[in-house]
Amino acid sequence: MSTAVVVGSGPNGLAAAIRLAQSGVQVRVLEAADQVGGGVRSTEKIVPGLLVDDCSAFHPTGAGSPFLQSLPLDEHGLRWAEPAVQLVHPLDGGRAGALWRSVDRTVAEMGPDGAAWRRILGRTAAHFDAIAAEVFRPILHVPRHLLAFAEFGLQTLPPASWTVRQWSRPETRALFGGVAAHSFAPLTEPLSSSVGLLLAAAGHAYGWPVAVGGSQAIADAMVSLLTSLGGTVETGVHVTDLDELGSPDVTLLSVSPLGALSIAGRRMPDRVARAYRHYRYGPAAFKVDYAVEGHVPWTNEHACSAGTLHLGGTFEEIADAEAQTNRGRMPQRPFVLMGQQYLADPSRSAGSINPVYAYAHVPHGYPGDATEAITAQIERFAPGFRDRVVGTAVRSTTDLARYNPNYVGGDIGVGANDVPQVVLRPRLALDPYATGIPGVYLCSSATPPGAGVHGMCGFNAAGSALRHLARG
Ligand SMILES: Cc1cc2nc3c(=O)[nH]c(=O)nc-3n(C[C@H](O)[C@H](O)[C@H](O)COP(=O)(O)OP(=O)(O)OC[C@H]3O[C@@H](n4cnc5c(N)ncnc54)[C@H](O)[C@@H]3O)c2cc1C
Repeated sequence: MSTAVVVGSGPNGLAAAIRLAQSGVQVRVLEAADQVGGGVRSTEKIVPGLLVDDCSAFHPTGAGSPFLQSLPLDEHGLRWAEPAVQLVHPLDGGRAGALWRSVDRTVAEMGPDGAAWRRILGRTAAHFDAIAAEVFRPILHVPRHLLAFAEFGLQTLPPASWTVRQWSRPETRALFGGVAAHSFAPLTEPLSSSVGLLLAAAGHAYGWPVAVGGSQAIADAMVSLLTSLGGTVETGVHVTDLDELGSPDVTLLSVSPLGALSIAGRRMPDRVARAYRHYRYGPAAFKVDYAVEGHVPWTNEHACSAGTLHLGGTFEEIADAEAQTNRGRMPQRPFVLMGQQYLADPSRSAGSINPVYAYAHVPHGYPGDATEAITAQIERFAPGFRDRVVGTAVRSTTDLARYNPNYVGGDIGVGANDVPQVVLRPRLALDPYATGIPGVYLCSSATPPGAGVHGMCGFNAAGSALRHLARG
């Protein structure tokens, strides 16, 4: 029987482990933290019984992942739950853009902008599975859904600042801009529409659901499935060198290129080590979780039922904030992503106290405290919010990097989404998962298709490892 070691128990490490175990490989997963899950951990904090997602909150690409969908994760305890409104982007004066699961409902509220939204996002949503089958793979491949892939690919080329020219209402432009900003890239760069198009379309096709019982439930279900396939997971094991792993037939590293260099750099061919050394990391996150008595007093009615909220004002304001963080400057009003997961999953609340999740985009390695800037953005659209806060838990960029070594400088996407790295990450290679060391592969979100809870980096890297095993 072939053997594999997977370093890291995030969604990509676990997806790789499951794919290998499904193929009859004996798999051992080693995790540095004491808790499995990497970017899908949840913990009780601030007040007893309050369940907080430490990292990922909403899972459009999780529910729509070709690999995760193929797994019987429901039999291992995973249940998705959707809020009434997937996403709301409030503006000053009580107005807001809203993304509903239904394209018809979304378009109906957009007035003159509705037709273009339906043409672009409605069509992408209708073909989401075909598009996901292509874009969740490395760019260099022979497409099976050529037309859908080509049509989607052409739409992703312009910057988000061009794509929004198709809409005239500030609400629609901001709604799209906020989704595009998930890439952390300047919204004036080519390809900066790609993440916006994919996530907004996924919102129509699959929603932006939460995992009942916290995002941790995703990792727990994957570990349970892996164990049923004969795999094992050991926590509290920080791998520092390949030599510590014995001699498995294949090794998969769900770590950053920097982490891979420190674990395996001396065995790598120079060209790979050089590429990993020059890999670029992006802006960072600064996270604040709030314990709130009752609900957030939003001015906009839809915001009261929204799972996700994007706070930052108009498209132009968000584009300016993202441009500043990418230049290493802290904006006065940063872009803030906020979550009211408890609306879809009330089990997370502690009596009348609800967990409210937020993080801001800040410069890479930002040493300051963004708590007040985040609170001020919430208060801007929900006056009186401050008075309802009974406690907070804060994670700075340094705390995030300490919590998970993959978040270099607090970069939760593990790599800048600049043009070269959107197309070819972590380096130019026919097999982007190969480290140049026979049988050793990189499978973190530094590899295609990048960040998000979808497990597709791990699934694809496991494919490379299986081909290596088949070659003997
Ligand atoms: C604040 C935040 C919010 C997010 N929100 C969302 C969201 O709403 N939706 C979404 O889809 N995605 C979200 N993400 C992104 C998502 O969590 C990640 O893209 C995803 O978890 C990446 O999976 P991974 O398996 O590659 O890495 P990770 O999940 O980061 O797991 C890597 C694991 O490897 C371990 N590790 C690293 N080095 C070593 C070592 N040397 N030895 C042993 N173990 C090691 C780490 O401890 C970690 O557990 C968010 C991330 C953060 C931080």
